[in-house]
Amino acid sequence: MAGVLVFAEQREGTLRKPGLEAVSEGRRLADQLSAELTVLLVGNDPAAGSGDVTRLGADRILTVQDPRLAFYAPGAFARAAVEAVRNSDPDLFLMAASALGKDLSARTAARLKTGLAADCTMIHVESGVISAKRPVYSGKAIATMTFGASRPAMATLRPNVFAVATGPHAGKGETIPLNVPFEEIDFRSRSTSVEAAKGATLDVGEADIVVSGGRAMKGAENFKYIQDLASALGGAVGASRAAVDAGWIDHQHQVGQTGKVVSPTLYIACGISGAIQHIAGMSSSKIIVAINKDGDAPIFKIADYGIVGDLYEVIPRMVEEVKKVRG
Ligand code: FAD
Repeated sequence: MAGVLVFAEQREGTLRKPGLEAVSEGRRLADQLSAELTVLLVGNDPAAGSGDVTRLGADRILTVQDPRLAFYAPGAFARAAVEAVRNSDPDLFLMAASALGKDLSARTAARLKTGLAADCTMIHVESGVISAKRPVYSGKAIATMTFGASRPAMATLRPNVFAVATGPHAGKGETIPLNVPFEEIDFRSRSTSVEAAKGATLDVGEADIVVSGGRAMKGAENFKYIQDLASALGGAVGASRAAVDAGWIDHQHQVGQTGKVVSPTLYIACGISGAIQHIAGMSSSKIIVAINKDGDAPIFKIADYGIVGDLYEVIPRMVEEVKKVRG
């Protein structure tokens, strides 16, 4: 049986948005390949996500249940993924390029001895041939990749690039418990709990709106300006490496080559110059706004809207306006 297989990531029983995006894209590609969409759910109560993935078009849902799978266990998840491939024999295997997906996809591709296109921003099917596009050289170029003869072709999808389908796409949603022959060694490393970082609200990697601060923040206390704007817009707080290295904000907020890659609908860079390593992490944002007092700052080259000014004056006025508009 050839088709499309998608691993849909869950956290504490809830499907994560990047997983839903992968399922939606999987449905679109399965339609183009005139094939079935199979979704793999792994966890302590994996079937909890069946309704959502059926609504997004899953024809078959493979569930792998074990209490030890409540949190990520790299070896066990990889074994489950390999077993799902054996069961569904897909042409294409997709998952999100989340932290978990990046780890799991590499392990699974190595075990299957197949090719993996990582962090893709587009998957294309033409006359049955699958190709993928991904930004390379810190976003300066886009590489197009095709897959060799080995199957399945594997790809991870950059979060926030692919839309979660909204129309009627319901699949058959046949749920099939998959019996995976786990061994003790599969659980030699596994997470036993996940603690939310102190004060963390929205993950910068998943948020639809990101407001980031750079070296111009001058200290941790001034990040309240960024937080105020992010809260008014319902977004997450990001940062440049300069701000993180200075110890003003935790590394989990860092956007860029050595931080997180984000693709929100709106990215607001405040007091960030636009170094190539920062741009690598946010250039696929749909709308980029830059606030910088230097009109020649490189960030303005990629910004859709630029405000030349002092962020300490501009941000409070933006917050005021946003609050007015939002009532
Ligand atoms: P700066 O470059 O110092 O820019 C500060 C900006 O603030 C200036 O443009 C200035 O005009 C403006 N400004 C100052 N005061 C105000 C004000 N009151 N109002 C408005 N504007 C003001 N960087 C990342 O961000 N992410 C990464 O993941 C990353 N990875 C890296 C990996 C490597 C291997 C290397 C070598 C570097 C990496 N960097 C990364 C660092 C990167 O090269 C830059 O040093 C960094 O992005 C600069 O941060 P910045 O823009 O906040 O600071």
